[in-house]
Amino acid sequence: MNAEAGSWIKCYLGLGSNLANDLGSPTEHLQQALSALRQYKQIRKVEVSSFYSSAPMGPQDQADFVNAVAGLETTLAPLELLDVCQQLEQGAKRARLRHWGERSLDVDILLYGQQQVSEPSLIVPHVGLSERNFVLVPLRELAPELMILQQSISDYPLSVDWTALQRLDEPKLRLDDSE
Ligand code: ADP
Ligand code: MG
Repeated sequence: MNAEAGSWIKCYLGLGSNLANDLGSPTEHLQQALSALRQYKQIRKVEVSSFYSSAPMGPQDQADFVNAVAGLETTLAPLELLDVCQQLEQGAKRARLRHWGERSLDVDILLYGQQQVSEPSLIVPHVGLSERNFVLVPLRELAPELMILQQSISDYPLSVDWTALQRLDEPKLRLDDSE
């Protein structure tokens, strides 16, 4: 089902960083991405989970990640929102050194309303969603009643799995727009 033009769709993004650079630390990369998101007029009501630290997937000789999930409403189409995610990554001067390796910023679309998207460059819901506690725990924090397609987030075992995951002291940021 496609959104009517101009309607606001509730979306969730997953953010992660484990590489500092001249633009900031991993935590700062996430904070800067959240601020940047609020600059788009097609995006409103940006809210964010606590920040978490998680062990890396893939190569283990890299730093732990800082992860968070952002909720927002947007009038952007899915591929336009992917463009925004990639602009945010470029804003953090993302360079990828190796597969599943360190990166200054990764921004993934987790959910786009209740829509399923299957394009060469975009699969939504995100393919890793159900297997990643560092996505499901912050997502559940932000939206405890969330339905993921037909299933409640509380049905996902990894949404309460704290293996290699810690909530950081970062105060919970609420970046709600007044609109
Ligand atoms: P990963 O996030 O898996 O570590 P990348 O961030 O490098 O890897 O993304 C690789 C590609 O995944 C992107 O170029 C993008 O086209 C594609 N992709 C497919 N589905 C999604 C999604 N839901 N969110 C973000 N990127 C996606
Ligand atoms: Mg990605």
